Amino acid sequence: MGKWIVNAAWPYVNSVPHLGTFIHLLSADVYARYLRLKGEDVIAVTGSDEHGTPIEVEAIKKGISPRQLTDEIHKQICELLEVYNIRLDNYTRTESPVHVRFTQALYRKVYENGYVYTQNVSLPYCEKDQRFLPDRFVEGTCPHCSYEEARGDQCDSCGRVLDPLELTKPRCVFCGSTPTVKSSTHWFFDLPKFRDTLQTIVQNNRQLPENARNFSLRWLEEGLKPRALTRDNKWGIPAPFPGAEGKTIYVWLEAVLGYVSASIEWAEKSGKPEAWKDFWFDKATRNVHFIGKDNIPFHVIIFPALLLATHEDYVLPWQVSSTEFILFEGQKFSKSKKVGVWIDEALKVAPSEYWRYVLIATRPEARDANFTWRDFEAHINTELNDVLGNFVHRTLTFINTKFDSKIPEPAKLDQKDSQIKEKIETAPSKIGSLLDRFELKGALAATIDLARTGNQYLSEREPWHLIKTDREKTATTIYLASQLVRSIGILISPFLPDTAKGIADQLNQADASLLRWSDAGKLDLKAGHLIGKPKPLFHKVSAPATSQVR
Ligand SMILES: [Zn+2]
Ligand SMILES: [Zn+2]
Repeated sequence: MGKWIVNAAWPYVNSVPHLGTFIHLLSADVYARYLRLKGEDVIAVTGSDEHGTPIEVEAIKKGISPRQLTDEIHKQICELLEVYNIRLDNYTRTESPVHVRFTQALYRKVYENGYVYTQNVSLPYCEKDQRFLPDRFVEGTCPHCSYEEARGDQCDSCGRVLDPLELTKPRCVFCGSTPTVKSSTHWFFDLPKFRDTLQTIVQNNRQLPENARNFSLRWLEEGLKPRALTRDNKWGIPAPFPGAEGKTIYVWLEAVLGYVSASIEWAEKSGKPEAWKDFWFDKATRNVHFIGKDNIPFHVIIFPALLLATHEDYVLPWQVSSTEFILFEGQKFSKSKKVGVWIDEALKVAPSEYWRYVLIATRPEARDANFTWRDFEAHINTELNDVLGNFVHRTLTFINTKFDSKIPEPAKLDQKDSQIKEKIETAPSKIGSLLDRFELKGALAATIDLARTGNQYLSEREPWHLIKTDREKTATTIYLASQLVRSIGILISPFLPDTAKGIADQLNQADASLLRWSDAGKLDLKAGHLIGKPKPLFHKVSAPATSQVR
């Protein structure tokens, strides 16, 4: 048995996640379920990322405090994760006292180890509001593309990362006045000190997908710059450095530490406060992250550097499964432009189980993927319903009507039957090897392919005719088809847990919760076993008129 820490990127909670963010939570859930099914020792963690200026700006717009805003959205997300069957060991938040305590303790250590230094920097300052204007507290015109709504940290139009002082015609987001420039002392993390170590680590980690590997090596090649650790705002974790009163830790440099603090909190909650160390300090633990490609630098470079800076023996990220982007009908998801689907409104269109399917089937593993309502319909109607649903339903209905709801006794297998038997026996290792390579989309497609094979087998054999002339051969066909249904029921369970349960119920498998991944390769339904009542697993859907979703 191996040890695993499965991590999903922390959703930023200025709103509930859209599909493009949710896919990382879903991927982590699918993977953790797969590992548990194999009998591995797993903790799966993440939580709400709730500090930083975008939350403050959103809260001001709504006329509430940042904490009120994140309380509300965190609660909403927890309820939605329940609906989507996301079963992590801990879904926490960066306002959790455990996270605050851990972050401050870690930075004290990093400071004592000599990796933090101070420097005076010039920053935009609003005389009227008497405050510094870091990141999104200042807006103005982008110096590169002249977009007039560019934010202090980034231009949404051309995508470039900006320094707030680069903006032409800058304005304070609170009062609209033109900021002055004022000097402030800030604390910096000496990231360049880790360049050589990280280069060796990234070069030797053959596990990393190409996008993460190439991006990181290029970045390391160009040389790393020190990172500003502190900000002049109150909403955040107070910086624990001597003389840094009134400053907070920059949101990006504390949220990544949440992977460890969420594990500590999990251990405390489960009454084994030291148990997290068995995972984080065991070199054999595999530390797996599901993120989007825009987060590669934080997971491959900055997070490992912070762990190394403690001089403690943390296990570093082993796999960073960084997907490409999902576009929505050809456009980038955008909250301000109202482009995309958010996970609360998605439920008005189809049940959560259908979205689990569509999202993994669209998972952008090798290149950007485009979500379209046409594909959404096709995935559900022609794959879930016509292939998987149909195969299960026609097999079980046949047993129900022609064999008194009992699994029939097989006779001698012919060549075609033996091929089906072999498909069942090899399925767990074939589909498992795709999952072991983090090809979730391919693994799901291969599972649906098994049902497709089952449908072809039934169409060739035509048991509804065959039963009139050869009851024995019909019995063999239906015996094998029912074994295939059972096998698919196990293999689909990481992806579609409700469907797996539906199949187990209809097969009347009392022990379904004890089944392991490898059991999918066995022909374990005994002849004479009484099945339950067949009923359709899915129904067809139509894509909504755009106005229904927006
Ligand atoms: Zn721009
Ligand atoms: Zn102002």
